[in-house]
Amino acid sequence: MPRKPTLSPSKISTYLACPSKYRWTYVDERGRWYIRAKSYFSFGTTLHKVLQRFHDARDAGVQTVGQALAAYEESWIDAGFESPEAMAQAFAEGKEIVEQHVRREIERPPEARTIAVEKLLRADLGDFVLIGRIDRLDEYPDGTLEIVDYKSGREATSDEEVASDLAMCCYQLLVRERYPGRPVRATILALRSGTAGTASLTDEALSVFREDLVAIGREILSRDYENLAPVWKPLCTKCDFLPLCRRHPEFDEPEEPSS
Ligand code: SF4
Repeated sequence: MPRKPTLSPSKISTYLACPSKYRWTYVDERGRWYIRAKSYFSFGTTLHKVLQRFHDARDAGVQTVGQALAAYEESWIDAGFESPEAMAQAFAEGKEIVEQHVRREIERPPEARTIAVEKLLRADLGDFVLIGRIDRLDEYPDGTLEIVDYKSGREATSDEEVASDLAMCCYQLLVRERYPGRPVRATILALRSGTAGTASLTDEALSVFREDLVAIGREILSRDYENLAPVWKPLCTKCDFLPLCRRHPEFDEPEEPSS
């Protein structure tokens, strides 16, 4: 039996933002020469690595603020920064974020226990397998499971944002499939401020979401990318693949206003 294709929240979000971007990122190999390192990915990956170690009960090496800061320095990824000054500023900000997060976690009484970090979950949705990696999964004494997703670049979030976030809905679907019958909620934690937003899909909303996901998954997997004409949108101005799309005769890029 051939293996089923996989779709992740980031693949689906990429497609929804721009099908051509999905093509260059995941389908057409020519795209790989155009992908540039991004400082925000480097920054986020570094912070995720440190918090993963701090919250992983099996990792006894990162339990204090000092240990977390040492792990941060070891884990630092320097790719994609525009200048040494920009990197130094991001490094200092990240240090502050790690310190504040670890202090808050040490000081707050533990209501829940972390049962998984960086956990990869899968759910067979028929034509494809939905996969998703969850930053953290906490379990409360009443059996409720809470998905915690870190946002490293954000000062704020809200319950409304979590309720309408595609990835958070995918994660809820994945956790509900993996732990049937358990109450599940999802939380985004804005690391720069420590503020959080939380939401939980009802059974009915989850079922509608699942149907929509299956439909969009089918569309993604059956699209004729070879003959896809790129369509200009504001997103294009910062897109790595702009040089590729510009070569297409139907790409309708607005002319720059003459000065
Ligand atoms: S340049 Fe625009 S149309 Fe092309 S992949 Fe990027 S966002 Fe999509």
